[in-house]
Amino acid sequence: MALHWKILIGLAAGVVVGLAVNVLWTAETWSSLGVEDAAAFLSEEAGLRGASLAEGGANADAGFIAHAALFVRHATEFVGDLFMRGLRFIAVPIVLFSLIVGVSSLKDLSKLGRIGGKTIAIYLVTTAVAISVGLVLANVIGPGAGFPEELREQLAGEQAEAAAASIGNAENRPSPWNVALDVVPGNPFAALAETEMLQVVFAAVVIGIGLTLIPREKAAPVIAFFDAMTDVIIMIVHGVLAIAPYAVFALIVVVLADLGIDVLGSLVKYVVTVVLGLVLMIFVIYPLVLRLFTRVRYLEFFKAISPAQLLAFSSSSSGATLPVTMECCEERLGASEEITSFVVPIGATINMDGTALYQGVAAVFIAQMYALDLTIGQQLQIVLTATLASIGTAAVPGVGIVMLVIVLQSVGLPLEGIAVILGVDRILDMCRTTCNVTGDCMVCAVVASGEGALRVGERQSDVATS
Ligand code: ASP
Repeated sequence: MALHWKILIGLAAGVVVGLAVNVLWTAETWSSLGVEDAAAFLSEEAGLRGASLAEGGANADAGFIAHAALFVRHATEFVGDLFMRGLRFIAVPIVLFSLIVGVSSLKDLSKLGRIGGKTIAIYLVTTAVAISVGLVLANVIGPGAGFPEELREQLAGEQAEAAAASIGNAENRPSPWNVALDVVPGNPFAALAETEMLQVVFAAVVIGIGLTLIPREKAAPVIAFFDAMTDVIIMIVHGVLAIAPYAVFALIVVVLADLGIDVLGSLVKYVVTVVLGLVLMIFVIYPLVLRLFTRVRYLEFFKAISPAQLLAFSSSSSGATLPVTMECCEERLGASEEITSFVVPIGATINMDGTALYQGVAAVFIAQMYALDLTIGQQLQIVLTATLASIGTAAVPGVGIVMLVIVLQSVGLPLEGIAVILGVDRILDMCRTTCNVTGDCMVCAVVASGEGALRVGERQSDVATS
């Protein structure tokens, strides 16, 4: 069976088990059934105090079920975390090794500048398009219009603490000057150790250029070393992909087990607006761009990149998904190694179309909820701020909300609005990360095609699926 089907089955099974655990591991479920011991056990467990369950009586069965649900929750969290560590393990080496080899194989260094310029320009344009789609949809649908004030206050109260933490994080952000300065690592080894992806890209490019400039016989063994190391890491990526279906199952169980499903109901119009925008980006706008600039066919594209999309959805991190995104672009979509290892890591760091779109919707939603008007000028300001903010933010779960703080500040919208939407942020994070990763793959295909480095129709698409 092809890999993406296996991952999809893992995802579907994760949804079923996750929802069951969600119901069974909350103290409210048990107390509503009149079962006190299991409820007490779970509320103490939630407080991380470690509880012992009362013995005997009618509560024993309920206690056993609660225990089992909690065990599944912890065991799946363990498996999911283990897998995420595996992905992080390979992220830095694969970018470093493959990009050094890629750059050192370039005959003409001016090509590098052209690819870099094109890549960044396309990333910025698609991000601006994504926010505009978000803004238009939110203006047309009006998800926040007439939002009940009590509900707003109640939701804001529940998440006040988490919202304050995100706002605090946004205040610690470096200035745009420092963001630009930070591309150059003061110490390349520190960049590797800290997974500073743009710095790793910079170091690899510089080393690769150096290798093209020194005598061939000196460069050859170094390039051969990095080439072999790239193959080693690719073997590990294949191993990680083989366990991806189980890991996706585990990641989804944890997300759903912890999700407050009732919040989803009260914010349904907002959630639907964001998801609709993301669906438009992923299934209409990206394929249109692909059609214009490449020979990649619609289904072919999605078949090639679906493992990366599914993993992005389950992990909410385009950074952690990076090795799989690269594998999909290179082995399954057919982009060359030098283009993939340059375009995709930069994309994972600076290209966040899904996140940008969500910020557009969230800003308008918050304005509507507080009955404030956003002028066209303010909306253009949002496009600009969100595009620039997307460059300097890490590709990890939940950063979108931190960037939203900056966007709201830029047009003077109330930051309290963040607390209202925080309850559904995780589920939207999953969806927008999928869009972020799809965008990276699309741009990789477009840049590769422009450079004549896309092997459409002769991909080794079965390498990763076998
Ligand atoms: N989780 C997203 C990503 O890694 C960023 C965000 O929107 O929070 O791409």
